Amino acid sequence: MNAEPAARISPHGNLAFLKNVIDALSAHIAILDEHGTIVMVNESWRQFALMNHMQCSDAGVGCNYLHVCDSAIGDEASLARIVAHGIRNVLGCKRDTFMLEYPCHNAERPLWFQLNVTRFVACDSIYMIVVHENITEWKLAEQRLQESEKRFRLMIERSSDAIVMLDAQGIVRYVSPSIESLLGYRPQDRLGHYCTEIIHPDDRIQAEQQFQGCIQTPPGSCVRAQYRMLHCDGSWRWIEINATNYLHDRDIQAIIASYRDITPRVQREQELRVEKDKLEAILHSVADGIMVQDESGYLLYANKAAADVLDYDSVEALMHDSWQEILGRFEMVDEKGQVLGTGSLPGCRVLAGEAEASAIIHSTSKLTGEQHWATVQSRPVTNAKDEILFAITIIHDLTEQKEAERRKDEFIAMASHELKTPLTSLKIFMGVLQRRFRKNGEDQYLEYLGKIEAQINTLTELINDMLDVSRIQIGKLLLRKETFELSRLMQETIDNLRGTQTTHSIRYESSVEVQVFADRYRIGQVLINLLTNAVKYSPAGSEVIVRLCADQKYAVVSVQDFGIGIDEVDQQRIFERFYQVTGPVEKTFPGLGIGLYISNEIIKCHQGRMWVESRKGEGSTFSFALPLQG
Ligand code: ADP
Repeated sequence: MNAEPAARISPHGNLAFLKNVIDALSAHIAILDEHGTIVMVNESWRQFALMNHMQCSDAGVGCNYLHVCDSAIGDEASLARIVAHGIRNVLGCKRDTFMLEYPCHNAERPLWFQLNVTRFVACDSIYMIVVHENITEWKLAEQRLQESEKRFRLMIERSSDAIVMLDAQGIVRYVSPSIESLLGYRPQDRLGHYCTEIIHPDDRIQAEQQFQGCIQTPPGSCVRAQYRMLHCDGSWRWIEINATNYLHDRDIQAIIASYRDITPRVQREQELRVEKDKLEAILHSVADGIMVQDESGYLLYANKAAADVLDYDSVEALMHDSWQEILGRFEMVDEKGQVLGTGSLPGCRVLAGEAEASAIIHSTSKLTGEQHWATVQSRPVTNAKDEILFAITIIHDLTEQKEAERRKDEFIAMASHELKTPLTSLKIFMGVLQRRFRKNGEDQYLEYLGKIEAQINTLTELINDMLDVSRIQIGKLLLRKETFELSRLMQETIDNLRGTQTTHSIRYESSVEVQVFADRYRIGQVLINLLTNAVKYSPAGSEVIVRLCADQKYAVVSVQDFGIGIDEVDQQRIFERFYQVTGPVEKTFPGLGIGLYISNEIIKCHQGRMWVESRKGEGSTFSFALPLQG
């Protein structure tokens, strides 16, 4: 079955077969005889002739192609002459073939053809085969390639980075023009040189090793490095190099490296490092512990003092532990002795959203039993969107201060106690003397004794105050509560004061009657304190107004004066123990700064609250709220 068709399509001597093959080709083919007359054309030629309305009939068969070319007019005339000349050269055996690429654009699209003329001999006659092949696609592809090559070349040449190509021996084979703006050399000056030649001697060994490493890296992988390179002007520049191994790529066969000047960046980094080192040295030498935590509580920074106060040998050891591990080493309580959980520590409160947090913390090390007092203050650091980035915590060791305070308190308690006994004896003997002088009518001496008695009373009050402070300190201020009429107590106290001073007019403005369940003596003490302060800190002749009001739960007492007033900053602190305002006016008043502290503590022991409203130079109003039910 196979043998017979094979015999039929045998190309030898089978013209029909050859014609079919030539017709199947897309190139336009014509055979010319030795005079240039077209003796045969293929199907593509025929179609082309039809489309282009060729003058000759039968697609030019029988026409003389040379004459057609010679007689061409218009735009194509000169091209047709070249073609005719070429064919004649081949015919006249001046050359074997003739080839020409030419454009043949039409209105719709650009077209290119390639003409090939080849001479051959058949049956003792000379023939020529003329082939016009449409090479438009190939031409367009070539054009696109050239354009993209041009773009890439421009990119490389205009880029601020220099592109360098090295062979396997590290010899520079190509340098882009940007090398001039980068390092001052002309590209041709670097060609043929070894790549590490202009690298700083201190960096050269490393550069050699990295070059060798790059050669050994898998094809296409990139190696990055930074070196100092010698600029043409003799200075050193920091250059970042990204090198990729394309030695195995047949089209490239090189290591391609990009050079980028990073000198300003490196200089900035170096300057920053110096600044950072300076800052670090300062932070490490401050006495307070400083810690920085990120938003998840992770410790980002700690100084030496922080490591010391947290019982670590070094900052590294502290940073190594998690926040939980650090806190787990201590038992912590606040000033009132209440246990502090992790969440109530200032750093955690700030990370949870508080604008600022502080606490006085007493810690006991579970390892050594060592005890510390410290004020811990935290502040958040936020970004432009107000999101918390980290919390900065400062730990100020108060252990010594607290110890000194404890010793002072102990001394005051002891001294006050010891002073009480001789004072009591003094009072008894004075009473004896008073009786004797009164009996003998020695009025002069009686007057002196009266003055001594007043001084003894002042001393007694002072000692009683001191003892109260000590009692408050150790939590032993005992209250003897009873139900009494607060308004009456206020009236009595005001009357007593009116008896001892005449400089100020004291006005009681309320008519409400309020019963409270409280320590009458202690509340009286508070009232005396507020009233004597109002008199003490306002000019003679001015008024002091006392008010009482009540709601369902509280009785509120206030004492208003029109005296020197208190600054806002001092208002925050006047209820502290031994705190006194230190302005030039205030300094002229005697006192110890404990009256308000005792008063406030008495009110707090009654579950009440004390506060002040004041303006410097205009006067003050001190108030306290006392629960009715005690
Ligand atoms: P002191 O013995 O110094 O008066 P206090 O504890 O009673 O102690 O008061 C503390 C400080 O508060 C005083 O030193 C004074 O500066 C200020 N202060 C108290 N009451 C008044 C007031 N009514 N007007 C102005 N300043 C006052």
